[in-house]
Amino acid sequence: MSQPVIEVNRVSKSFGGVVANHEISLEVPQGKITGLIGPNGSGKTTLFNSIVGYHPIDAGSIKFKGLEISELNVQKIARLGLVRTFQQTRIYGKLDCMQNMMISIPHRTAAWIDMFAKPSPKTQARAEQLLDFVGLYAKRRLLAGSLSFGQQKLLEFAMALMNEPEVLMLDEPTAGINPTLINGLIDRLRRANTEFGITMFIIEHNMRVIMNMADSIYCLAHGELLAHGSPEQIQNDQRVIDAYLGAH
Ligand code: ADP
Ligand code: MG
Repeated sequence: MSQPVIEVNRVSKSFGGVVANHEISLEVPQGKITGLIGPNGSGKTTLFNSIVGYHPIDAGSIKFKGLEISELNVQKIARLGLVRTFQQTRIYGKLDCMQNMMISIPHRTAAWIDMFAKPSPKTQARAEQLLDFVGLYAKRRLLAGSLSFGQQKLLEFAMALMNEPEVLMLDEPTAGINPTLINGLIDRLRRANTEFGITMFIIEHNMRVIMNMADSIYCLAHGELLAHGSPEQIQNDQRVIDAYLGAH
């Protein structure tokens, strides 16, 4: 058993009268790929937002490497090594790929002017190396807005890697991507896990993708934790099947 790197304990979060998360407890083990699934509106994104410090939680505890982080803000948590990507792509279409890579480093985003200063050769080399890793090296001087949607997702993934995360939380990384490009993205996600040792926590709507990638999977329904197990266990769990069928 690997050590949990994220420990969520009885976390609740409401928006007005809507209980988005009710006493959720889960663990993300170090070095593994953990999946989070559930029908639309079941509270997956809310839980991610709570973990990364995007909004305060109503109750419960969230630990990263044993440290309570539920009171810390996004920047502090990112600096500890816990980084997330968004369901909606957040790249700057009017900047080229290399410039997008530069502004993705947290301490540089604060100083807008910094973007026009020349980055250190080390930073530049790292950006080029990561663009090569996701297959965008040849397009590094093209405007991000001119890339296909799938390529923009790959750029966003490379941008997240610029932060040298220990844990990467991905919110529906394959959403909207052409099925033929999905395999390339899955391969890069897997390699980031095996070659860079990055622990992954992934919200994924595509069952084929998450069943193939995850070591274990949590399933939410109506803001509550419904099930946890191996992909095989989850796939055959009647409660999970019912939750999905009930959602349609
Ligand atoms: P999922 O990511 O599983 O689709 P969400 O976490 O986005 O689900 O949403 C869970 C519930 O919380 C939904 O009912 C949604 O409408 C509500 N919700 C999420 N974010 C907000 C918000 N900022 N304000 C109000 N309600 C919200
Ligand atoms: Mg969501």
